[in-house]
Amino acid sequence: MTNSNPESAPAPNQDAITPSSFLRDFIAEDVRTRKYGDAQVQTRFPPEPNGYLHIGHAKAICIDFGLADEFGGKTNLRFDDTNPEKEEQEYVDSIQKDVRWLGFEWDRLCYASDYFGQLYEWALQLIKAGKAYVDDLTADEIRQHRGTLTEPGTDSPYRNRTVEENLDLFARMKAGEFPDGTRVLRAKIDMASPNLNMRDPVMYRILHASHQRTGDAWCIYPMYDYAHGQSDSLEHVTHSMCTLEFADHQPLYRWYIEQLGIFPTQQIEFDRLNITYTVLSKRRLIQFVQEKRVNGWDDPRMPTLSGLRRRGFTPEAIRTFVAAAGVSRTNGTTDIEMLEHFQRDDLNRRAQRAMAVLRPLKVVIDNYPAGQEEYVEVANNPEDPSAGTRQVPFSGEIYIDQDDFREVPPPKYYRLSPGKEVRLRNAYFVTAHSVVKDEAGNIVEVHCTYDPASRGGNSPDGRKVKATMHWVSVAHAISAEIRLYDKLFIKPDPNDFEEGGSVLDNLNPHSLEILTGAKLEPSLANAKLEDRYQFERVGYFCLDPDSTAGKLVFNRTLPLKDAWAKIERKSGG
Ligand code: ATP
Ligand code: MG
Repeated sequence: MTNSNPESAPAPNQDAITPSSFLRDFIAEDVRTRKYGDAQVQTRFPPEPNGYLHIGHAKAICIDFGLADEFGGKTNLRFDDTNPEKEEQEYVDSIQKDVRWLGFEWDRLCYASDYFGQLYEWALQLIKAGKAYVDDLTADEIRQHRGTLTEPGTDSPYRNRTVEENLDLFARMKAGEFPDGTRVLRAKIDMASPNLNMRDPVMYRILHASHQRTGDAWCIYPMYDYAHGQSDSLEHVTHSMCTLEFADHQPLYRWYIEQLGIFPTQQIEFDRLNITYTVLSKRRLIQFVQEKRVNGWDDPRMPTLSGLRRRGFTPEAIRTFVAAAGVSRTNGTTDIEMLEHFQRDDLNRRAQRAMAVLRPLKVVIDNYPAGQEEYVEVANNPEDPSAGTRQVPFSGEIYIDQDDFREVPPPKYYRLSPGKEVRLRNAYFVTAHSVVKDEAGNIVEVHCTYDPASRGGNSPDGRKVKATMHWVSVAHAISAEIRLYDKLFIKPDPNDFEEGGSVLDNLNPHSLEILTGAKLEPSLANAKLEDRYQFERVGYFCLDPDSTAGKLVFNRTLPLKDAWAKIERKSGG
């Protein structure tokens, strides 16, 4: 694959980036029959810069870049920037960053706005050929004339204007003589076509708006449907892959290309990626950001690539997921658990292990020599011996998680409780004896004794314990804020809401939980944004960019699968 960006992830293997079979077969057949002669396979990824990319776009990116690469071809990144009111440079920048982060590098960086001049010339050509006309109907009237799926449309009274009149009016539209919305240029095709897209679609609208690239040079803008196919053609895109909702637009794109006699791009449609508990629509995602339902586009609960990145997801796992989710010609929905599975799998292999106590409970080891401290050696990643080991400080006062102690243990509870012996990971066996409570009756301290002969985590007499727990030395611990994320929506289909309601009704009020008092082993003070950790027995975590020297913030990417929670659920606990 074309991957020359040093910051991006290593190139995935072909199997991992090309989920398609029918798309590949389609292209392979065109290559075999030399449909495009000596021309190489050329694809494009064509985002509209009106929002940040989401994981649905990742699927399109993997297909566009992955398939071109398989055939030794190239992929352009093209911004479909025909809608100046909704588009911004911030989006243009974020999209480039996200495509690279996912591991792809484009051949040419293009903009539909680069073609505004050519598109205008082609509009004149269509007018002169009697294939386009200026219409004075309002948007509402045009809608009323369009007809329905079962009824043909009716011709606009302006449909049969002369070529001269159309040329004159279109030139004056361009010159800025008319207010917004007063006239449009339409293709003259067939108001009775069974395909509504062919019923004299609008080509140009009047819009006195500044464009982020062309400034005030234009006050008429091409419609997406007039710009998209010709942009493909201009770039000699051989295979223009897009989602299924554009299938009905394909005849229109072909009509323009045939009328103009230009390079014949082939469009092929595939299914959109949909994921349970997830909304993948920029229009909606913008709403969440603007209404502050989330903390920005890169909120770790967002399905945006920037949100997933901040959450700790990796480009490798996203690509593997996209490939596994597959591609077909009918829309379906993929379980979010599948994405989580591939992410856990990836992190299990690469994440450094560390000990962190999210909800600390102090344990005092009464027979540990006062003032003593020692270091125990711990493997950085049991899955990867090359990751090495580190020294973790131990002392007579440690933190364990509140969940790891019960004064009165329920059945099958094997962790610490009075009289019970457990292993402190890589350190010693300890046995609990008593607790100290505050005035409200909360346990604030547990007193234990340890077995000095069990250093390293095994007792020479072969004694067995049923639980191994993580811990952090009180004197050496660093404090951090921990952000726990859950699904953003409470329903598998967030669009399943009552009549008159909205997707917002299904937002999960508990999607973010912030823990301020977590205690971490001291090595985590050196964590970097790109580092990935498995906090032992807790989950996968990464540093959040909100971190400062004085205050570390970690995001939970995903919890580990919690066997105990399952047992508790089963027993109705
Ligand atoms: P949205 O509905 O989220 O606004 P869009 O289709 O309008 O998405 P574009 O910027 O036009 O967004 O999309 C660029 C490309 O990404 C298009 O080719 C589109 O088909 C593809 N794409 C968008 N969403 C998905 C998805 N969920 N699954 C697969 N491909 C997608
Ligand atoms: Mg779109």
